[in-house]
Amino acid sequence: MIIIGITGTLGAGKGTIVDYLIRNRGFVHFSVRQFLLKEIRRRKLPENRDSMVAVANELRAKHGPSYIVEQLHDLAVKNGKNAIVESIRTTGEIDALRSKGGFFLLAVDADARIRYQRVQQRGSETDNIDYDTFIANENREMSGKDPATQNLMKCIETADFALDNNGTFQQLFDQIERIMSEVDARIKAANSGISYRRPSWDEYFMEVANTVAKRATCDRGRSGCVVVRDKRILVTGYVGSPIGLPHCDEVGHLFKKTIHDDGRITTHCVRTVHAEQNAITQAARYGISLDNSTLYCRMTPCRTCAMLIINCGIKRVVCEFRYHDAKESEDMFGDAGVSLDYFNDEVLTYDNQ
Ligand SMILES: [Zn+2]
Ligand SMILES: [Zn+2]
Repeated sequence: MIIIGITGTLGAGKGTIVDYLIRNRGFVHFSVRQFLLKEIRRRKLPENRDSMVAVANELRAKHGPSYIVEQLHDLAVKNGKNAIVESIRTTGEIDALRSKGGFFLLAVDADARIRYQRVQQRGSETDNIDYDTFIANENREMSGKDPATQNLMKCIETADFALDNNGTFQQLFDQIERIMSEVDARIKAANSGISYRRPSWDEYFMEVANTVAKRATCDRGRSGCVVVRDKRILVTGYVGSPIGLPHCDEVGHLFKKTIHDDGRITTHCVRTVHAEQNAITQAARYGISLDNSTLYCRMTPCRTCAMLIINCGIKRVVCEFRYHDAKESEDMFGDAGVSLDYFNDEVLTYDNQ
C-alpha cells in the first residue's frame, strides 16, 4: 500500500494532482480540508481560511503535530487501497507519516500570480480574498518554527518529489506519471530488500556442500562436504569411487555385510570413498592444512571419517542431518574436543541400512 502525501502552496494544483491520481491510478483521497471543515461546522465557526488555520493549529497543539494526518492515515489503512493524504502542512506530519512506511511526499508549486488567478477562478468560500491578503496569508503559513504549526516552506523542501505547475495540465500530468513510475520502482526495490534474507555462513557453506553432493556417484547417499577456515573454502569432496575405478551409478553397488556384537547385520556399499575422505585426500594432494578448520557435511560422519577428521585437526563439524548410527562418532568427537552441530535433529535413513 502506497500513501502519497501532497503539500504545496495555495492554488499550486494539489487538487489537480489528487484528481489525476484518483482517476488514473485508483487512489483514494483523504483530505485535511474536509476533516477541518467538518470540525469548523461542528463548532459553528465562519468557513474561511482563518478558521481553518486556527482550528488546525489548535488540534495539532492539543493532540500532537501530526494528529489530523494520522487520523486520515488510519482511515486509509482501514480502506486498504493506495491513498492520498492531502494536504500536508507541517514537518511533524511528515515525520509521522514517514515513520509508518510506504509514504512519499509530493510538493507542488507555481508562481504566486498564477496561483492567485486560479484561486479566484475556483471561487471557493475560503478563497475569496484580494491578492495582498492572499500573499499575507501565505507568508504566515510559510514559516512556522514549531513542528505543530504550518511551515509550508520546510514541507516543500523535505518532499520526495517536486512538481512545477506553471504550465499546462498535460505538463503536470507528465510529471505525475514520471514520479509514480519512480514510486513504483522504489516500492518494488524496498519489498525485494525486505523479502531477501542473506544466508548465515553456516547456511551458505551447507548449501555449497549440497551443491558439491550433486556430483556424488552412489545413490545410497549422495553426500558432499566442504572444509572451511576463516570463512574461506579450503577443499570439497563428494561420495565416489577412487579415481579411475567404476562408479556405483555405472556398475552397481558393492555391498558388504557387517555383523554387529548384538547380532544385528547391516549392509553397506563399500565401493566409494566418502565425501569427507575425498575432501581430506584433496587437501593431502594439494598440500593444504586442515588444522583448525570446520567441515560441513550432509550427515554425521561415519566412524572412519570421524577418526580422520579428528587427526586432520578439524575442530568443528556441521551436519545437516543426524545419521541413524551416529553415537560412536559423536562420542569420539566429544572426547577429541571436536564440536558437532546439527542443522536438523531429524535422522536421515535409507533402505537396507
Ligand atoms: Zn554404492
Ligand atoms: Zn565416512
